[in-house]
Amino acid sequence: MKPINDSLNQLVNKKDFKARLEALRNSILSNPEVKTFLQEHRHELDEQMVDRGLMKMHEFIDQSKCCDKCPSLQSCVNMVKGYHPQLFVKGRNIDLQYERCPRKVQEDERKEQESFIQCMYVPKEILQATMSDIEIEQGRFEAIKLVRDFVREYEPNKKMKALYLHGSFGVGKTYFLGAIANALAEKKVKSTILYVPEFLRELKGSFQDQSFNEKIEYVKKVPVLMLDDLGAESVTSWMRDDVLGTILQFRMLENLPTFFSSNLNFKELQHHLTYTQRGEQEELKAARVMERIKSLAVPVEMNGENKRNR
Ligand code: ADP
Ligand code: MG
Repeated sequence: MKPINDSLNQLVNKKDFKARLEALRNSILSNPEVKTFLQEHRHELDEQMVDRGLMKMHEFIDQSKCCDKCPSLQSCVNMVKGYHPQLFVKGRNIDLQYERCPRKVQEDERKEQESFIQCMYVPKEILQATMSDIEIEQGRFEAIKLVRDFVREYEPNKKMKALYLHGSFGVGKTYFLGAIANALAEKKVKSTILYVPEFLRELKGSFQDQSFNEKIEYVKKVPVLMLDDLGAESVTSWMRDDVLGTILQFRMLENLPTFFSSNLNFKELQHHLTYTQRGEQEELKAARVMERIKSLAVPVEMNGENKRNR
């Protein structure tokens, strides 16, 4: 912005200084927002106060208000990014108060919302997902209804079934989990989306160090857990019984909701969990984990085109 002092200096050097000052004063005072302000506060203001406040009012006019001069928050033109001025009367003076602009308020809300969702090995972009994106799609009505019921009725410690979303690669299962996490964050419910294959790989690497137990404890206890892409991991009896089985058992007993996404339906997952990498066939152990999954979540099939190839 061009500071009023510059404008004044220019004016002082001119012969018709007085006339120009008057012109600037008039232009400031004829600004519609300034006019409204002066009108609203006419009983508190006198002419001297208005004259003393010209610089403040000039600054007020110059700054963007309600984002009217800014294409985006990043390219905010104001002196303090994300803050816009308001005129007010302070004692015997007109003053400016800077408050968060609408875009900054929106951005802060988005950040707060994001702080309720932890993504582990899942790209943060998933947090762009919203339920309204999903609503327009055919064949998702049942799942959407279940999610809506879930979000509405969620209370800590209440026994609630979550969803087991299954369907082929690219139909939007992970995206759906992101949208659920966002809907929950609006209610200030914390959730964690965890990409299972990578989590298990990491765990293997940290076996025997302190972080191993911390990771497991965290995943066991998070208010809402979303296990993304279960069934894409390679099966060992350790991961199935000691990791997955333990986590699910704990969450079942503590009534902690757990969502799943998988390319496999229940039957296929059971088969997947039965055969370990070493070639062992352990039907009973697989069945035990399956029982826990079934008790935590209702299966919902997702159909549709592969969105990755669009
Ligand atoms: P899946 O987990 O079933 O393999 P994703 O959730 O990763 O599929 O979705 C595949 C791609 O399609 C991703 O890039 C995702 O962002 C996008 N996508 C999925 N569902 C939607 C949707 N409802 N609206 C817009 N983009 C979507
Ligand atoms: Mg996925």
